[in-house]
Amino acid sequence: MRLHALVALLFSAVALTAGTHAQHHHHRGHRRQAELAAVATTSTHSGSSSSSPSSPPASTPTLSSSTTSSPGSISTGSSSSSTNSSPSSPASVPTGQNGVPPLSMISSGMPTGTSSPLASTYTPGATPPVPGAPPLPTAFVFNAADWPAQDKVPDTNSPQVQQWIQELEGFDIPDWSPTADGTCVGDPAAAAEGKTRGWWTCGGTTRDTDITACPKKYDWGVSFDDGPSPWSGTLLNYLSKQAIKATFFVVGSRVIERPAVLIEEYMAGHEISVHTWSHRPLTSLTNEQIVAELGWTRMAIQKVLGVTPTTMRPPYGDIDDRVRAIALAMGMVPIIWTSAPSSGPFDTNDWRVAGGLVNATTSFDTFQSILGNASTLSTGFIVLQHDLYEITVDLAVGYTLNAALTHNPPFSLKPIGTCSNIPATNMYSESNQNTTFPYTNHTVITSKNSNSSSSAAQSSSNTANGRVSVSWLVAGLVGVGCAVVHLMN
Ligand SMILES: [Zn+2]
Repeated sequence: MRLHALVALLFSAVALTAGTHAQHHHHRGHRRQAELAAVATTSTHSGSSSSSPSSPPASTPTLSSSTTSSPGSISTGSSSSSTNSSPSSPASVPTGQNGVPPLSMISSGMPTGTSSPLASTYTPGATPPVPGAPPLPTAFVFNAADWPAQDKVPDTNSPQVQQWIQELEGFDIPDWSPTADGTCVGDPAAAAEGKTRGWWTCGGTTRDTDITACPKKYDWGVSFDDGPSPWSGTLLNYLSKQAIKATFFVVGSRVIERPAVLIEEYMAGHEISVHTWSHRPLTSLTNEQIVAELGWTRMAIQKVLGVTPTTMRPPYGDIDDRVRAIALAMGMVPIIWTSAPSSGPFDTNDWRVAGGLVNATTSFDTFQSILGNASTLSTGFIVLQHDLYEITVDLAVGYTLNAALTHNPPFSLKPIGTCSNIPATNMYSESNQNTTFPYTNHTVITSKNSNSSSSAAQSSSNTANGRVSVSWLVAGLVGVGCAVVHLMN
């Protein structure tokens, strides 16, 4: 933990200096992150010359003032008529594989290319690929009065949030104060209790109710966070071409901006999951604020798609037993990404490149060495990637997924629900017929592991100890696990 704190501190310093826009999935102290992300998102519309992540962020999150992508507009993610993802005007960036610049050219200061338009248009009433899911609802029309301000923690006094708070009744939610800022260094007292709190951020603890790895060896759980964005179209076209399905963890504030992108993701057979409204570290919020963050995002997805996800991913992986209990009480199973003892988190570090913290070559080299350790795991793994920025999409399309497809032994790329043997119907409450998924709240949540750098590998030792494993959980036998009180320290 001391090392973690040190690393976090180091990255804080670097990030602050760099004025980065990156999604700091391991560095949490940036309350402004969501605002930065919002600014970056709206400013990276193709044709905008001010969209490079190196340009200084606006000091205030005036996302709603965006002129190019007003919330609810049926945006294809690009106003450009370009049909491929090759960079537009800047001749200085040559085209490499898959229309993406060479790795050495991908940097936070690179000129902006253009994103692909969406491949398809779906009309209300269309039948989704999820059996039992309702037809696509009436086209989403954004009305500012219907929604909280984007990229801000929603008001908890609204009638909607007050109603959702009632979902917590009867459940045992740990009575803890929010952490200072979701970081270990920001809240040493809470960090000292990290393991007993099940705080993934400080101590790496996961619980049996978390989905942290694909159970099958060499399965690669593909996930993209923080969209929908102007660049999602480029990614979606690539995924379609390669017949890859992924899980998209979407931010509510982005969903209402780009409903057409979300529809494309869903109708193409990708999984949709909740990634909060304003992308704050959830442990730093009150119970009511967490409810508001999850509730509004859940509602935004439901309004656009007609279905309500049964899963969620905490921004920065910032989850503890209080956040878990609230998510589970609201019918959402937490999904994180895999950490392995030998290689650390399966994080592509694309966000670090977007933030100018590392160069693309270094980032990709690091990730390849992580991948090299996949064979040491007894399970598969879940990889963290992002579709919010051009750079992260370039890395995915040109390099990371390419490496996955050409790896030996071959990886099997799947969405996380699929790799976890969760039927597609279970992923949304409207189509779900399984009464044991999502799991209900646990009085005491069994610790899956408490080592800061293990989850996938330890699940096997858990099983050896007579304890439950991830695959056991997803088999739908969860109710029994609630009775188990066993902290592994
Ligand atoms: Zn995120």
